[in-house]
Amino acid sequence: SKFEKKHLNDTLDHVMTLIQTQANMKGINLIKAYAKPLPECLYDENKLKQVFINLLKNAIEAMPQGGDILTQAESNDTHLRILIKDQGVGIPENHIGNIGQPFFTTKEKGTGLGLAVCQQIIREHSGILNIRSNATGTTIEIVLPIKNEGA
Ligand code: ADP
Ligand code: MG
Repeated sequence: SKFEKKHLNDTLDHVMTLIQTQANMKGINLIKAYAKPLPECLYDENKLKQVFINLLKNAIEAMPQGGDILTQAESNDTHLRILIKDQGVGIPENHIGNIGQPFFTTKEKGTGLGLAVCQQIIREHSGILNIRSNATGTTIEIVLPIKNEGA
C-alpha cells in the first residue's frame, strides 16, 4: 500500500468532482462542509477515494427522490473525523447487523461488497467506521489517526 502525506480536502474535492454528474442527474446536492485546511494526514489516497466513492454511491442510491448529501470533516490534534450524511431511506433495524458483511445487499444489482471493502480499508488505516441510520437518513462516520502507525 502507498501511504503518503496528503490533504483530505483535496482528496474529498476530487471525489466530489467524480461523482457530481451522477448526483446532479438524480436531483441530489453534494454539500461540502469541511474545515479548510485540514491538517496533512498519512494515508493511501487511492484507497480512501475508493471508500468515499462507495459511501457516496450508497447515499445516492438511497435517495431516489433526491435531496442533500452533506460531507463534513473536522480535526483535533490527533484525529480526522469525516461524516457523510444522507437523507435517504435509511437502514431497517433488522438489517443493521448484516450491513458490511460481504455480499449482503438489498439491491437488485448490488454486490454487497462496498461497505465490506470500506471497513477493510479503514481498518488498514487504523481507523474506525460507524454507521448510524434512521427513517430520515444514514450517517457514516470515519475517524482516522493523523499520524498513522499502520503506514
Ligand atoms: P451494495 O451497495 O452493493 O448493496 P454495500 O456493501 O455498499 O453493497 O451496501 C450493503 C447494503 O447496505 C445496501 O444494499 C443497503 O441495503 C445498505 N446501505 C448501505 N449504505 C446505505 C445508505 N446510505 N442508506 C441506506 N442503506 C444503505
Ligand atoms: Mg454500495
